Amino acid sequence: MPKYVYFFGAGKAEGDASMKKELGGKGANLAEMTNLGIPVPPGFTVTTEACLEYQKTGTFPKGMMDEVRKHMSRLEKAMGRIFGREKPLLISVRSGAPISMPGMMDTVLNLGLNENTLEALAQESSQPRFVYDSYRRLIHMFGDVVMDLHKDEFEKILTSMKKEKGVSFDTELSTEDLKKLIKQYKKLYKDEIGEDFPDDPWEQLERAIKAVFDSWSNPRAVTYRKLNNITEEMGTAVNAQSMVFGNLNDNSATGVAFTRHPATGEDVFYGEYLVNAQGEDVVAGTRTPQPINLVNKVSDDQQTLEELMPKVYRKIEKIRNKLDTHYREMQDIEFTIQDGKLFILQTRTGTRTANAAVKIATDYLKRGMIREEEALMRIDTTFIDQLLHPQLDPDVTYEVVATGLPAGPGAAVGKAVFDAETAEKWAGEGEKVILVRNETTPDDIGGMDASQGFLTAFGGMTSHAALVARGMGKTCVVGCSELKIDYDKREANLNGHKLKEGDWITLAVGTKGEVILGQLPLIDPQFTGDFGRILRLADKHRRLKIRTNADTPKDAKQAREFGAEGIGLTRTEHMFFEGDRIKVMQQMILADDEESRRKALEKLRPLQQGDFEGIFEAMDGLPVTIRLLDPPLHEFLPHTDEDQKELADEAGVPFESLKSAVDDLREQNPMLGHRGCRLSITYPEIAEMQVAAIIGAACNCKKRGIKVIPEIMIPLIGHVNELSYLEKITRRVAKDVMKDAGIDIDYLVGSMIEIPRAALTADEVASVAEFFSFGTNDLTQMGFGFSRDDIGSFLPDYLEKGVLTKDPFQTLDKSGIGQLIEIACTKGRETRPDLKLGICGEHGGDPDSIDFCHRIRLDYVSCSPFRVPIARLAAAQAALREEGEKLLTKTAKVDLSKLSSLV
Ligand code: PEP
Ligand code: MG
Repeated sequence: MPKYVYFFGAGKAEGDASMKKELGGKGANLAEMTNLGIPVPPGFTVTTEACLEYQKTGTFPKGMMDEVRKHMSRLEKAMGRIFGREKPLLISVRSGAPISMPGMMDTVLNLGLNENTLEALAQESSQPRFVYDSYRRLIHMFGDVVMDLHKDEFEKILTSMKKEKGVSFDTELSTEDLKKLIKQYKKLYKDEIGEDFPDDPWEQLERAIKAVFDSWSNPRAVTYRKLNNITEEMGTAVNAQSMVFGNLNDNSATGVAFTRHPATGEDVFYGEYLVNAQGEDVVAGTRTPQPINLVNKVSDDQQTLEELMPKVYRKIEKIRNKLDTHYREMQDIEFTIQDGKLFILQTRTGTRTANAAVKIATDYLKRGMIREEEALMRIDTTFIDQLLHPQLDPDVTYEVVATGLPAGPGAAVGKAVFDAETAEKWAGEGEKVILVRNETTPDDIGGMDASQGFLTAFGGMTSHAALVARGMGKTCVVGCSELKIDYDKREANLNGHKLKEGDWITLAVGTKGEVILGQLPLIDPQFTGDFGRILRLADKHRRLKIRTNADTPKDAKQAREFGAEGIGLTRTEHMFFEGDRIKVMQQMILADDEESRRKALEKLRPLQQGDFEGIFEAMDGLPVTIRLLDPPLHEFLPHTDEDQKELADEAGVPFESLKSAVDDLREQNPMLGHRGCRLSITYPEIAEMQVAAIIGAACNCKKRGIKVIPEIMIPLIGHVNELSYLEKITRRVAKDVMKDAGIDIDYLVGSMIEIPRAALTADEVASVAEFFSFGTNDLTQMGFGFSRDDIGSFLPDYLEKGVLTKDPFQTLDKSGIGQLIEIACTKGRETRPDLKLGICGEHGGDPDSIDFCHRIRLDYVSCSPFRVPIARLAAAQAALREEGEKLLTKTAKVDLSKLSSLV
């Protein structure tokens, strides 16, 4: 029979930090800390395996509760107390999955209290007030977490009691008040649940363990896993731990601390605490906590733990140093001080902003604590996304109406909304929104994801809103005490200014957490310092080249600054939309004969050539792939009567005949219609003009000393004959242009592979093509048979119902579309061993797809300029992962999850 329960306590634990898979992150670290001699309240961990069994059968696995009982006796011995009897042992039950899911799972505290133990404990501790307070918290949490009784119901009773007594804080309620409160809570429990609150501690415990197991599948946990790509097949462990009380008296406290600053990554101990409080009081954000130390004190009315309890503070600081060195990673520590005695309740890898992640990794690297490979593996590619976060334009002056704590990165602009549902609804309608709340809860996760940023009135840097913001990379200001929200009126008062729902608001985080009314301009970020260092390290470790998709000299320049090593796709059609060019383009499309078409094309050629020159110049010395015209011509034509009339007037043709010409070009399935190479097969003069412009630009640039490496790409090939037809035209025109200019240019002619038939006949296509570029947008469209413009009507259902786990237009479908790519690579290389291979669909900027591209030995990925830094890191991580796996197959029996520390 498997072992389902592991003990930790009295300086020794059965598990350790390597057992995250079995004990969850929290359980494994509690065991590790116990072994390190750190004061951890003793307890035991029920394994994730038990949870998975329970998920399958709906009952605890056989023997599990016997083990729990056995370990409870051990715990009773360690504590010198008894569960459910006089001198009662009280325990907490908390979830702890192998991957941290902050705020997503459930906790119940003070289990073991009932009417009997309550009295016994009240007498023993001579602190009856605190004991009754603990009991009312148990009923509240048990009702909420275990029995699904909405916590607002308890809050209502509490609020009316405080009102009746004329007090503002829970701590001001007397023992008698609390006794009354307990009666009211119990009545609520009975009325709502239909049974009495369970007095039997074992029943409390069993139900609580079940609730934690069940919480693995609650909607907010499922959403969190989906958003963070966490597998469902993991389960959560349950940690039962003897209670320690931060709310025992004023010599008690509870807090959360980070071994480094979570927003900046600086090597300073950062944390918050509350006197006379339990853990959730800090995280829930209903009271604004105080800084633990002087370094982080910002105003005189704050009282730090360092000043209040200097001895205990020194102890925590020592533990901070021990944990930071031991884990070689920034830790997020929860601590409780019970009547002056310190306990550490948890340590885990701390969430941090992208800036902090980069700073911390490079810092450890500089100190020789970690290796380059580890530093790279520790930077989540989504962090790079955050570093690309916009900031407020520094040239703009503005008035800050309020400030709070700078909890999440960057700056954000949006319309104020006061609840998560509205945030989701408005964002779904295309609005940019900022979620403004007193505090956020895990139920708000969907609305938070839909928002540009969050602003809360309460809470500190470790509140729910702050954690989620750092995890998601959202701009966030918390603890903005000048914010007073009136949810009923759907408006707020911001330091005397009215903010109605729908009003524009700007958050600028920086170091201050500024709130500004109105819509301010944002600017894109810069790459310097440690960030540059990480990217340069990534370059050292990656094999894949990173190119960019850029259609203008400006984009090309930007992408080069971000580290692009060439252009993988220039969509020439975009150039035709600029200014008056569209009109010439329309004349070309609507021309009645070849001669007038050529006339219009002659007007376009210098414009296009000028653009190409700009791009070649920006990419001096690097390859530039230019694709011939691709979209259906209909896309360039006006669609409203008004616009068509205007065009008819300008062209001097009757409106009716223009309208009918436009109608003639309309297709049933334009994506499968007259587009791509088909256009130039019908109208070779289009290809001729474009090739002349490309080679003409190359000649001019070469004359100016610019190194040009053009690659001419033919789109939407399904049959090799389509390619050969256009290749001949290309070579002929290129030859003529070079001859006229008296310049020789080395250029390649290649093919996009975006139709399944082209992939399957890649050996034939490669007899003509000198390179392949996988257009995975179309390849996915045609491989799945999903219209890429119409997926909105069914893909959300697919994802919701688990028919597909990921949007195949964002993350490459490896088994299907990926297989087509692999076939094409193999067959193509059989014909032409030096065939250059790349990808230029959206997938070229997606880390998971980049990993695949690395493994199948593509030469490069090409993505939009702003994804280039992400791709650089993702390519390095793909290489390191592959190396790590090779190492693992050599050294059998090593857990994959340890990969990052192995490579
Ligand atoms: C593709 O199909 O993947 C591609 C890059 O081309 P487009 O998106 O322009 O069709
Ligand atoms: Mg395409």
